[in-house]
Amino acid sequence: MNDCIFCKIINGEVPSYKIYEDDETFAFLNIHPMSKGHVLIVPKNHAEDLAHGSEGDSVAIMKTLHKIAPKVIEALGATGYNLGMNHGKIAGQEVFHTHLHVIPRYEGGARTFDKNEASEQELNDVKKLILEGIK
Ligand code: AMP
Ligand code: ZN
Repeated sequence: MNDCIFCKIINGEVPSYKIYEDDETFAFLNIHPMSKGHVLIVPKNHAEDLAHGSEGDSVAIMKTLHKIAPKVIEALGATGYNLGMNHGKIAGQEVFHTHLHVIPRYEGGARTFDKNEASEQELNDVKKLILEGIK
């Protein structure tokens, strides 16, 4: 039995604020965002981290980044973003399904890596803005 929360999100067993999906990858909002519009990009194939997954899946998440990141930041009025990947418990990895953090940054805004609470309303509003920018 696969108890992985991100596999469940990909399969639709657990709800998410999905912003993009293709054959190989899935992207959704982090529910504890480090900034407004903090997105996680994951390969659909389960692997605990990048090193345990295929080279193809590593390429696939970068392709998705390339496709969606410019639209995400434009839709939200951000002007750049931090990318992050915590590889292993020692590095702070909490969910053991490869995921790339995309953390939009705003002029005059904070550049911290602290997690924030976000209401359903806020997450839905951000999702809506991003989806309008992506279509
Ligand atoms: P990491 O420390 O790199 O493993 O980060 C895992 C991230 O997944 C954390 O930033 C969490 O806020 C995020 N996360 C955990 N559960 C969910 C969920 N159900 N939906 C969206 N993001 C989640
Ligand atoms: Zn998984």
